[in-house]
Amino acid sequence: MSGDKPEHPIRPDEQQPLDNAKVGEDLMPVEAESEQIDEEQIDAEDEVEAQEPVRRREVPTPSKEEVRRHNISHLPYRSWCPQCVAGRCRDDPHRDRKEPEEGRGPEVHYDYAFLRNEEGGEKATVLVGRCRKSKFLVSHVVPTKGASEEWIADEVVKDLKKMGHHGHVVLRSDQEPALVSLLERVAEVRGSVTVPENAATSDSKGNGFAERAVQQMEEMVRVHKLALEHLVGQRIAISHPCIAWLVKHAVDVVNRYLVMSDGSTAYQRLKLRKCTATMFPFALPVLHRVSGIVQGGVVAERWYEGLWLGRSFTSPEDFINLENGKVVRARATKERPEAVRLTMKMLDEITAPPWRPMTVLSDAHPQDLRTPDGEAEGNPEVNEVPEQAPYRMQLRKPSMRRLGIPPTARSAAG
Ligand SMILES: [Zn+2]
Repeated sequence: MSGDKPEHPIRPDEQQPLDNAKVGEDLMPVEAESEQIDEEQIDAEDEVEAQEPVRRREVPTPSKEEVRRHNISHLPYRSWCPQCVAGRCRDDPHRDRKEPEEGRGPEVHYDYAFLRNEEGGEKATVLVGRCRKSKFLVSHVVPTKGASEEWIADEVVKDLKKMGHHGHVVLRSDQEPALVSLLERVAEVRGSVTVPENAATSDSKGNGFAERAVQQMEEMVRVHKLALEHLVGQRIAISHPCIAWLVKHAVDVVNRYLVMSDGSTAYQRLKLRKCTATMFPFALPVLHRVSGIVQGGVVAERWYEGLWLGRSFTSPEDFINLENGKVVRARATKERPEAVRLTMKMLDEITAPPWRPMTVLSDAHPQDLRTPDGEAEGNPEVNEVPEQAPYRMQLRKPSMRRLGIPPTARSAAG
């Protein structure tokens, strides 16, 4: 490899292809870059002479650039990707089955799903919905089923707007009381005509559309979670606050990149154009720009560190997790020029779930930000907290800093 390109922080070269024999059929066009074919790849090809300076159009393993791009969405399915192979089952012949659409008005189907690391283990409850027409998929990790948390109904109302449903809409579900009461609450909150409709228990096909949406959410979450675990080198608890963000990102990439039978994505069906946003692999260490900070009367533009949590569907903004656990919206984000690898310690800085919108700040305060050289803006005390001693209980260092708890207060707090 030439040395003038920064190595990608997620080190895509560590991903070993699983199935060389089938790789060719899945390959995307290879771009004309000589460094995309390395010596190992050529050696692996029996029919290529060792001294032949031939550039093949197809290589048996993906290029680094292909892997790098694929790792953002894990779509389409690639047989050379260990996480795709491990996370998505491909043996369900009914998954793309079509159902008659004629005579149907706007309909969104809902169901609950559970994510578990192992059978009987702790679970995350996920509300899954999908618009019948656009196939737009929404998923929210929820602390509890039902309508007891007011924000859940509010999120569903926001989702319906994203799907373009501003008028009469039917919200379909099975007869589960918690789901029925949530959708009834949505109908109350929403001003327009909203008709909850429950499939009969005897109707096995009644909620099949939602069941397939659940299956797709589960598959994509599995793939992205496996990729994340590969990066940090350990299993991630299903209760980790990053999971709620990961679930949002996993269905977001489905909406943006999964092409349906008519050649369009859900994103295209709603926005009438292709998604051209710059997307990153989940939790990639990035820099984001904050404009307009006044320093001695000068408006400065500076870049700050953070972890990329995903992209907003409605505005051109990224969600960035700061070291102190706060989440900000950023209008400009870029990969870090130096190779920074995600660690479990960095992932543990994600403490704010997406379900409390007030934890997402519209404008970052300078004291919440940290520059690449480690200098904290406007709050020098942040750097004076010694980085020592394993902490007990749930309170993490960033939280302690935010709350202004000095390190000596640790034993008192415990
Ligand atoms: Zn993949």
